[in-house]
Amino acid sequence: MVIIETPVSLPMQPASSVSPTRLSPGGKDASLYQFFAPGGVLSRSHPAYEFRRGQLQMAQAVEQALTEKRHLIVEAGTGTGKTLAYLVPVIRSGKRVIISTGTKNLQEQLFHKDVPFLEQVLFRHDDRAPSGAESSHGPGRLSVCYMKGRNNYLCRKKLYDLTDQPVLSGLEEIEQYRAIAAWEKTTGTGDRAELAELPEASLLWHKLDARADACIGQKCSQWERCFITEMRRRAMESDIIIVNHHLFFADLAIKLQADDAPDAGILPEAAAVIFDEAHELEDVAGNYFGISVSNLRVEELARDVEQSLQHNRILSPSLSGALGSLRERSQFFFSLLPPGDGRFAFETRREFLEENGDEFLALNQALTRMAGELEGVPQKPEEVFNLVRRTQEIQAQLGFAMESDDRNTVFWIERRGKSFSPQRRRDTEKAKEASYGGRQNVFLQATPIHVGPILRECLWSKLECAVLTSATLAVGGGFEYIRKRLGLEHARESVLASHFDYQNQALLYVPPDLPDPPTEFADYSKSLADARLCSSPVTRKCTRSTIDCSVKSNFQCCARGMRRKTRCSKNSVSRRTQCFLRPHRSGKG
Ligand code: SF4
Repeated sequence: MVIIETPVSLPMQPASSVSPTRLSPGGKDASLYQFFAPGGVLSRSHPAYEFRRGQLQMAQAVEQALTEKRHLIVEAGTGTGKTLAYLVPVIRSGKRVIISTGTKNLQEQLFHKDVPFLEQVLFRHDDRAPSGAESSHGPGRLSVCYMKGRNNYLCRKKLYDLTDQPVLSGLEEIEQYRAIAAWEKTTGTGDRAELAELPEASLLWHKLDARADACIGQKCSQWERCFITEMRRRAMESDIIIVNHHLFFADLAIKLQADDAPDAGILPEAAAVIFDEAHELEDVAGNYFGISVSNLRVEELARDVEQSLQHNRILSPSLSGALGSLRERSQFFFSLLPPGDGRFAFETRREFLEENGDEFLALNQALTRMAGELEGVPQKPEEVFNLVRRTQEIQAQLGFAMESDDRNTVFWIERRGKSFSPQRRRDTEKAKEASYGGRQNVFLQATPIHVGPILRECLWSKLECAVLTSATLAVGGGFEYIRKRLGLEHARESVLASHFDYQNQALLYVPPDLPDPPTEFADYSKSLADARLCSSPVTRKCTRSTIDCSVKSNFQCCARGMRRKTRCSKNSVSRRTQCFLRPHRSGKG
């Protein structure tokens, strides 16, 4: 995970046509009112602007949370205009704030649309800074950066190592290698998005990206020129940093693992974090505080060991033997794991170990041998220390995934590969992993059931101010459920009334004879499109693809929600989700 630069600039001191001084950092609610109110700054800047009381109330609540350094949970329905409701107080605060979203779409909306819009609205008449507010970005300019995951960036060290000793497979990789090597000389960011011709699922890129596990940090010969180092610097100089939840929690997990070592992670400290689409926090955090060990991970370790030792000309016969043994044991052990498609609970770990204990021990011994051989290398290059650490980490995590009785953890298996559903094939990362080595990959997963205690200790207690917002956070009109699940004990709360008149403007219709969505998705969408849900002209205008999209996203939301609530009971995920959906088919829902 990581960053990307982003030279959007905003003057620190807005010069609005309403009242420049009252929009200054530290201004009172009255100035927010003048900004959002009918006839105010926003309404004069956008012909379609409509005053929404909820938007103003949310902006006031966020400003208060920032000023008083308190946490805030705020639910505001779709159409409230939440992004402007927190961006305006964030800009007025003059503090460095991280904004974390659940989706790339929202990240892009913030970066490409909302922030530039506010820049235009707030500062079009005057880009002078208040005295003393100049920064390195120019007079009164506010820097905004949009960060991506580390695997979007090139690792220069890996590229140079490969240049000395290219291990490329096939013509296609050779061509990709040439393109990447030429681009590396000119790119300022190292972001693969600049390489339009590189296939999304390029295996070569997978070998060259700047992911954290193979990075040796400050000890790297390329540290000063590293794209990640540069991004970290830019983030340090930024006032608003836009990330997604995956990046945020990956960064947090790395910092925790490294005991907050200075070069761990890439996000700088911030006065506040705004979590938009906060209903996804629990699921995402669970992934990053959990464990995942796979044949793919062992294979990647073996590949990196081999390349590093060859590059440094220290690949001895005994290290070669250790590598061969590790690959073989891993392949055999993971092939023995219980069969099944997609994700399923691993309820039979004890029985599995009784039957296959020797194979588990053999893989363990192969990992011990690998770590020992690497440790025994005289005058080790820095990256070999990193490889020892990775080997030992896999061994410890494999032990936990197979033998732990931790009651706060759910143990499960995931298969990614040939049997992928079309929906999951579209997930680029997983598709890449699935195609790696042209075989199915097996992931042993251990995920905490309650992330609340972890978040309480390592996140909420360390942040001055966190704002959690979404259109769906409250249960029964309150936040007790989400506060408990996330371990967020002390927070102001606000549920803002919807801008829409649902009673008069919405219809609920349950067709009695639709096919089952999980198993007959194509038929389900078609039937839904044919059903002509109501005679509203708006609904009639919906295209088939709109309906497909909406159904899929609703189905995924339902499944996610049910998973969250039933994670602690064995086998609960798929059964309960299916039960949840069945009434539609039978017409009882
Ligand atoms: S510091 Fe890490 S990511 Fe950067 S070039 Fe070196 S090894 Fe690669």
